[in-house]
Amino acid sequence: MDCLFCRIMRGELPAKKIYDDQDIFVFEDIRPQAPTHVLIVPKKHIEGLDKASAEDAEIIGKCHLVAAQIARDRDIEDGYRTVYNVGPGAGQSVFHLHLHLLGGRPLGWPPG
Ligand code: AMP
Ligand code: ZN
Repeated sequence: MDCLFCRIMRGELPAKKIYDDQDIFVFEDIRPQAPTHVLIVPKKHIEGLDKASAEDAEIIGKCHLVAAQIARDRDIEDGYRTVYNVGPGAGQSVFHLHLHLLGGRPLGWPPG
């Protein structure tokens, strides 16, 4: 698959890997928007949340549980945020499903 995140997961492009298992790959965002900004990526190529189906429910849930574990590991449980940007209007720029985990600084609401 000629997809940026599929290529990173195949090791064809560099990334700062944080976690890897049979279903999920986690790495540092190249343009961090907070002291912790990591991307939790299902290995299955799903274009975005709007393209996910019932069979993806388990992996979507697992992405959130991995995010919560990383937040615990990094001691950012005072306040963190998980985000799926869905569609160009929300700033989605990579069309392979990925959950952003942001934390380590005060996070305003509403987001931009
Ligand atoms: P989104 O805009 O929600 O699709 O998020 C895509 C994210 O991928 C952005 O936060 C980018 O900074 C990040 N990104 C793009 N290219 C890379 C890369 N080569 N390695 C790590 N993160 C990347
Ligand atoms: Zn992909």
